[in-house]
Amino acid sequence: MKSVLFSRFFILLPWILIVIIMLDVDTRRPAPPLTPRPYFAPYSGGRGGSRLPFRRGGPGRGREPRNESWPRPPPPPPEPPLPTIYAITPTYSRPVQKAELTRLANTFRQVAQLHWILVEDAAARSELVSRFLARAGLPSTHLHVPTPRRYKRPGLPRATEQRNAGLAWLRQRHGHQRAQPGVLFFADDDNTYSLELFQEMRTTRKVSVWPVGLVGGRRYERPLVENGKVVGWYTGWRADRPFAIDMAGFAVSLQVILSNPKAVFKRRGSQPGMQESDFLRQITTVEELEPKASNCTKVLVWHTRTEKANLANEPKYHLDTVTIEV
Ligand code: UDP
Ligand code: MN
Repeated sequence: MKSVLFSRFFILLPWILIVIIMLDVDTRRPAPPLTPRPYFAPYSGGRGGSRLPFRRGGPGRGREPRNESWPRPPPPPPEPPLPTIYAITPTYSRPVQKAELTRLANTFRQVAQLHWILVEDAAARSELVSRFLARAGLPSTHLHVPTPRRYKRPGLPRATEQRNAGLAWLRQRHGHQRAQPGVLFFADDDNTYSLELFQEMRTTRKVSVWPVGLVGGRRYERPLVENGKVVGWYTGWRADRPFAIDMAGFAVSLQVILSNPKAVFKRRGSQPGMQESDFLRQITTVEELEPKASNCTKVLVWHTRTEKANLANEPKYHLDTVTIEV
């Protein structure tokens, strides 16, 4: 009797093992999804776009058939066009000019939708600047206007005519059509600009302002802001100016430039150092100013100045076998 039971047990044992293995395999398989898993959904809501890489697994890696009948949310509304930043740069011939323009172009090339208005202080467009701009890889306009000789004296404001030429070009170009969104700022060729500055100024509605580093005999100057409004100026020089701000410290919307067609930089009646303030007075009020750079608590532009190149050992007559542009 005992041996019969024993032999039966041995006959059944393989079958019992097969059943146990089958049950085990089945419990390890994931349950079929009741609803599609979100990360396989082609248009899953919210940040669905970031999920898309999951679908790039290739055949056989957990892909599931696409359910074409899922309701798709409507496509997002088209993004408003990025306002163009117009940078007006006065520039003049000197040994460091090409080096300055190179630094500037290297910055501007990293800014989306920027149009560079380069205005030479010269009777004609120079070959050096023309060649440079042609290779700069930037949308640009090349203008020129010479500063009258009587104004080329120390202590007198610089680049007045050049900035006005840039303004005139903008007004002429946009005068006959409904202006595209745009922001203008004055970018001297020797300053230093962080890329963040362009993000800040791009949202200018009328006139925006921010701090400037290394200017006015101080580490920085800045508009003083209370409750989101400019209420005064931190400056080491003539704090009584209505807008005690450097040229590098503000931007103006294209719309404001077009709706104030007579606003220009003035020679007559403008005292040294008052150019910015005189210009801003023509187009805005202190109450209207839009503080940028975290309520004017961050320096994103520096009024750096390049030292004059030392050419003491430059030969009087050309000695080299080749002529090289510097
Ligand atoms: N500039 C010019 N003609 C001049 C002197 C200066 O076009 O005779 C330009 C210069 O290239 C710069 C801007 O005007 O883009 C301001 O000049 P600068 O940097 O010498 O002035 P500061 O640093 O003293 O404000
Ligand atoms: Mn300068």
